[in-house]
Amino acid sequence: MKTTLQIDIKKTEKSKLPKTDFDNLVFGQSISDHMFVADYINGEWTDFRIEPYTPLSLNPANATLHYGQSIFEGMKAYKNVSGEILLFRPEANQKRLNESAERMCIPAVPEEVFMEGLFQLLDLDRDWVPAKAGASLYIRPFVFATDDYLGVRPSEKYKFMIFTCPVGNYYSKPVSVKVESKYTRAIEGGTGYAKAAGNYAGSLYPALLAQKEGYDQLLWTDGKNHQHIEESGTMNVMFMIDDTIVTAPTNTGTILKGITRDSVLVLAKEMGYKVEERFLKVSELENALKEGQLKEAFGTGTAATIAHIARINVNGVDYTLPEIPGNAFSNQVLRKLDAIKYGLEEDTHGWIQKV
Ligand code: PMP
Repeated sequence: MKTTLQIDIKKTEKSKLPKTDFDNLVFGQSISDHMFVADYINGEWTDFRIEPYTPLSLNPANATLHYGQSIFEGMKAYKNVSGEILLFRPEANQKRLNESAERMCIPAVPEEVFMEGLFQLLDLDRDWVPAKAGASLYIRPFVFATDDYLGVRPSEKYKFMIFTCPVGNYYSKPVSVKVESKYTRAIEGGTGYAKAAGNYAGSLYPALLAQKEGYDQLLWTDGKNHQHIEESGTMNVMFMIDDTIVTAPTNTGTILKGITRDSVLVLAKEMGYKVEERFLKVSELENALKEGQLKEAFGTGTAATIAHIARINVNGVDYTLPEIPGNAFSNQVLRKLDAIKYGLEEDTHGWIQKV
C-alpha cells in the first residue's frame, strides 16, 4: 500500500527477545517489544507512533473504565519457510473493526492507519514472529475511549493501539460444550456482531457456571427463546449433519462475522460440500445426536482455526460425538487453511499479505 502516513518510531533500548522462551509460550504472556499508538483528538486520528511496549497511565474518570466504549480485533501473522511474514486477511479485520466502531459510537480507523501501523509494527518486530511449525504471532488491535468525563455520552477522544504476542502451536483438544438455555450472549438489536469488550464481560459468568459443571464452553442460543444455536464460546460453530454443513447466518446482528467462518465456507463450497447458512434448532440438534446424523461439530476462530467438539449437553443430557477421522471435512479444511496461512499452498483467494 502506498502511503503518506508519517509514523514516528522510537525503538526499545533493551529487547525482551533474549529473555523470551519461544519453546514455552503461554498465550498472551510474552508481549513483543513495540506497540503502535494513534490518538483521536479534535475529530481526527493523529500522532501516529511506534514505541516500546509500556503500561498506560489512566485517569480514574476514564470513560472506558465506566461505560465500556472499547472494541478490539484478533488476528495472526505466520512465518513461511523463507522467513517472510504472512498476514491472513488483515483487511477483513480492519473492516470488522470499523463495523464494531460504528455500533459503539467510536470513530472509524482509516484503512491506511490500520494497515500502515500494522505493517510497520510487524516489520520492526519481525523477529518476534515464531518460525516453528504451528506457532504464530497473535495481533491485538483495539480502540478505546480516553475522555476523562463521567457523563454518559460518546467520548470525544480515543486511542487506537496494536500490540502483538508470539504464541505456540495452538492445538485444541476436542471440547465439551453445553447448550445454554438461560443466559444470552446477544440479542437482535444488541451488540453481538460487534467485537465490543462488554460482550466478552457478559459472557464470562455463564461460561464459568458451565465450567463448574465440567464443560469447556457454551453453545450460545438465541436470546428470545433459546431455541436455535448461535455461536460456541468465542467461536462460530458448524455442524455436519449427514453430508451438509450447517452454520448460523450472520444477518441477525447477533453473530460475530468470523473471518475463519467465512474462509471455511469458501473452501467447503470449493471442496464440493453442501453448505446451509441457517439457524439450527436445538430440537434438530438433539434429534441429529439421537439419530447419529451429527457427524462433526466444530468451532471456527483465529485462535485454534478449528476446535472439534466431542461432547454436547442438550436439555441436561450428554451426547458423545463419534471420533473424527483424519479425512473428515473439519480436518481437511484445517490442513488446507494451515497450508495457506504458512505459505505451503498457493494462495488462490488473495487472502495472504506479505510484510
Ligand atoms: N465469535 C466470537 C464471539 C469471537 O470472539 C470470535 C473470535 N474473533 C469468533 C466468533 C471467530 O472470529 P474469527 O474467525 O474472525 O477469529
